[in-house]
Amino acid sequence: MITVSSLLDDSWYERYKSISKLNIRSSIYDVTNRCNLRCKGCFFFSSDEHKAAKDEKNITKWEQFIDKEIERGVNMAILIGGEPALELDRVEAFYKRVLTMCATNGLIKVPRDRFPDMMVGLSLWGDEEDEKTLRGKDTFAISSKNYEGDPNCYYLYTMTPKQIGHTEKIIKKVRDVGLKIHIQLLSNDEDVNGFHWKEEELEDVRNELDTMLDAYSDCYISAKYYHKVLTSGKMLGRSFGWNECPSVTLPLDTRDPQPKRLTNFIRWAADLETMHRCCTSETRDCSTCKDGAATMSWIMVNKRAHIRTTEDLQNWIEVYEMFAKLYRFIPW
Ligand code: SF4
Ligand code: SF4
Repeated sequence: MITVSSLLDDSWYERYKSISKLNIRSSIYDVTNRCNLRCKGCFFFSSDEHKAAKDEKNITKWEQFIDKEIERGVNMAILIGGEPALELDRVEAFYKRVLTMCATNGLIKVPRDRFPDMMVGLSLWGDEEDEKTLRGKDTFAISSKNYEGDPNCYYLYTMTPKQIGHTEKIIKKVRDVGLKIHIQLLSNDEDVNGFHWKEEELEDVRNELDTMLDAYSDCYISAKYYHKVLTSGKMLGRSFGWNECPSVTLPLDTRDPQPKRLTNFIRWAADLETMHRCCTSETRDCSTCKDGAATMSWIMVNKRAHIRTTEDLQNWIEVYEMFAKLYRFIPW
């Protein structure tokens, strides 16, 4: 029988052991429907998720809700929106109770005296020109000043087809402000002209990201296997999409048979009652989905399928380590 220990030497086995003790149970929360930007291609607004439910304004109700979530087994809260930094009391209600990661555009600084070690993920959509085209503003100019050198912060760079050949410039500018970077791909939910991926571009992206990881492993948090699966949409001969997606809200998951999925995962709207279909756009065609987090989770929940060859299992370990680094379960 093929076992984990039969596939790994001592040092890989140690790496495996240190991640396999992590027992992460995450869910995602829309902290608010409001945002101080309106990016073209934002999955939240393009799918009208901001209209699905009203913001709950009573902070006591948020606190009671979070306590129930913890009772449900959630041990990591991922805060999105809208812009969570517009509602810091709600963010604090999470932060005081559970391990919290806050995704923000970085225009408003989360005060570190109030949230000393909260993980912050800063969205970035390309160079100055792309950011102005897609977001109406060069957010990096502001967010990098707000978070320069912050040890609990990284940029989540959503790469567009126009950025092929330019990722090095972006990685360097993030490194120069003393921060880390992780990269995913734009899904272009609003059909912005010129921002759709072509097959040959995806191959180029994969090669470019692999080269960047070799050159900038000090600040670029990633894994080559993640690049491969993200750009091809394939893993071990299987195709990513609705039938395989791990990040579907549990009570809305009617799939039969059930694929491997995130345990008890729910994405909650800001009224604390409504649920969204999945971790990203309610209306996205799953066959076009390039969501980085869902891809990462897809690999992670399919551990057993990777206990096949040494290379497969090492690939799985590297992706799990990438996730664990992004959330600071292991040092970067
Ligand atoms: S900052 Fe984020 S939530 Fe706000 S519009 Fe842009 S992508 Fe959407
Ligand atoms: S849109 Fe993406 S994340 Fe959502 S269910 Fe489809 S494949 Fe999964």
